[in-house]
Amino acid sequence: MNFFIAILGGFIGVILAIVVIIAVIYFKVRASVGGAQIGELKDAFTHAKEIARDEYTRVKSISGLTSLLEPRILRDFPEFNRDLLFSINEKNIRKILNGIEAKDVSEIDADPDLIYIEPKIRETIEDMKSNKIDEKFDNIEFNRSAISSYTKDDGKATIRLSTSLGYYYDSNRKDKKSYSDLKKQTRYTTEFVYVYDESKFDEKQLAISVHCKNCGAPITNLGDSHCEYCMAPVERINLRAWKMSSFKEDYNI
Ligand SMILES: [Zn+2]
Repeated sequence: MNFFIAILGGFIGVILAIVVIIAVIYFKVRASVGGAQIGELKDAFTHAKEIARDEYTRVKSISGLTSLLEPRILRDFPEFNRDLLFSINEKNIRKILNGIEAKDVSEIDADPDLIYIEPKIRETIEDMKSNKIDEKFDNIEFNRSAISSYTKDDGKATIRLSTSLGYYYDSNRKDKKSYSDLKKQTRYTTEFVYVYDESKFDEKQLAISVHCKNCGAPITNLGDSHCEYCMAPVERINLRAWKMSSFKEDYNI
């Protein structure tokens, strides 16, 4: 009987020793492989973060067809002044971004240059208010603008501008990155419309909604001098001027 117990004890001892050895090898191998992989992951993560920061601060390029398109615009509109349009564009972008930051459309509303774009900005601000979104644009600086396209049909001409600019950006939006210590470099596409033939032009093309300041009724004919409902005088819109009709950040990281 003692003999049997001794053999059994020896047998169990050997099995235990083997289990311990296998366990030690297993944990050692797992620790070393896992450790290396974690290190690699950390490196990749740091690298990706650096790339994202570089991209955030890289001055964005713009596709410039200015030298090709400007002569065509000048042929149709001899009084066209590129530098003036670029400076109006910058002034408008500044005003719109400030309006979005303050969630206040009153300055945009009061500017006849922004009459086509005002409804869109108003809608954006209403959306931000209802979704409790804040956006801040500080130290706005413009790098460069270029004309990227020009079209003329149906009584209206459209110039599209591409603008590269930078600002310190802060927001609680989930779809946009922001770094408090880095200046964001981005790009906007804006469009300017000049209505040269009112008889061919249909307001629906611009989707502008101009309302009577007295009764709030929509002004269906932009050429009207009086509101057709309350007869209050309506300030005529100068259609024969380049006015911003769309505004969009076309770069997102
Ligand atoms: Zn009215």
